[in-house]
Amino acid sequence: LQDRLSGILDSLTRRGALTEADVSAALREVRRALLEADVALEVVKDFTDKVKERAVGVEVVKSVTPGQMVVKIVNDVLVETLGSEGVTIDLNAPSPVPIMMVGLQGSGKTTSTAKIAKRLTDRQKRKVLMASLDTRRPAAMEQLKFLGEQGGIDTLPIVAGQSAVQIANRAMQAARLGGYDVVLLDTAGRQSVDEALMAEMAEVYRAAQPHETLLVADALTGQDAVNTARAFSERLDLTGIVLTRLDGDGRGGAALSMRAITGKPIKLVGVGERMDQVEEFHPERIANRILGMGDIVSLVERASETIDAEKANKIAEKMRKGQFDLDDLSEQLQQMQRIGGMSGVLGMLPGIGKMKKQLEGANLDDGVIKRQQAIISSMTKEERRKPDILKASRKKRVAAGSGTKVEEVNKLLKMHRQMADVMKMMGGKKGKGAMAKLFGGM
Ligand code: GDP
Ligand code: MG
Repeated sequence: LQDRLSGILDSLTRRGALTEADVSAALREVRRALLEADVALEVVKDFTDKVKERAVGVEVVKSVTPGQMVVKIVNDVLVETLGSEGVTIDLNAPSPVPIMMVGLQGSGKTTSTAKIAKRLTDRQKRKVLMASLDTRRPAAMEQLKFLGEQGGIDTLPIVAGQSAVQIANRAMQAARLGGYDVVLLDTAGRQSVDEALMAEMAEVYRAAQPHETLLVADALTGQDAVNTARAFSERLDLTGIVLTRLDGDGRGGAALSMRAITGKPIKLVGVGERMDQVEEFHPERIANRILGMGDIVSLVERASETIDAEKANKIAEKMRKGQFDLDDLSEQLQQMQRIGGMSGVLGMLPGIGKMKKQLEGANLDDGVIKRQQAIISSMTKEERRKPDILKASRKKRVAAGSGTKVEEVNKLLKMHRQMADVMKMMGGKKGKGAMAKLFGGM
């Protein structure tokens, strides 16, 4: 994907407004990325239409290519669509506040019920009662009871032979009598959406009148996400989504599908089997995971904020001609510092891993960069242009002037020599080399 993407970035280098062709070209890759991330087909289509509408005609930010610009817009629309951060469970209702958990079998309802109960207990100091309405599998009730014992949360005593609605009513009554703040109703699921299940859910919903109805969905769900989300949201007034198994390998496309179909916020995400493995939803993180282009997005963001394209081009030109002097190095160091250090820049660019190793060997962290700049600014103009004239006595003077040691001056000079060599080498290929791209193409 990164290769394909850098291909786009190379081929689209004009400035101006984004044309339909620019957008379409970039969106082809985006569509593929979304499908690879298991976003449901119809959601992908709506989404890319929305991006197209937004992107065509947008002025390309200086120092950014049209391809990069489209990726950035895609990311923005994705984050927007995924919804805002920090939408939490709403307890703003008379106690006991009923919360109903729904979803397919194995989606993580029971686990999430316990996780939420624990969170509300520990963080918000609420008195929480959990009840299992899963009458089909006796083991399910035991599972919730066990989790309750583990987490120190009360569960409604199990009574055999009651229907889901009867249990829901009993739970609400017990909660009122027991002075509970919140009642979590863990319901039964099915392998797939069926009418009997939906009817039961609707009945429980009417009886308990939940303040929150949370659809629990497995992040690894693929195209099915649409059916599930639609079926539940048609029958119940969902208030939010809990996305589980984000600790898995999946790219999390279900997040976008679920969100797009239900229009409801993702309130929490499950990141493991343990009771404390639940987190708030961060749309940027999921967007990054779904798109797989987060590196490029942040590169564009930072580059458009900080890089002066003309300056960079001038330096790239000098590199190609092998005239990279210490003033240029100083300029580069400054820019690097602004965008997070050398490894920060290199880490974001595809396909130059070897280069990265070489330069990381030079240990270019922030503090080092500052010292290197001090060294360079302690040199005379002439020395900066022709570092070769720096012999022992001059080095001593520079070291003293910059508050460093002669070894550090030597190290810097050596690094400059190496960089200049590499650049000459890479620049030879008509400026198409990685370094030229690094400094010239941003
Ligand atoms: P239910 O049928 O909807 O009640 O699903 P369960 O809560 O019983 O969960 C089914 C399985 O998924 C269990 O083995 C859970 O431990 C596991 N599970 C639930 N949530 C997560 C999660 O966020 N991450 C991982 N890795 N496993 C989870
Ligand atoms: Mg269950």
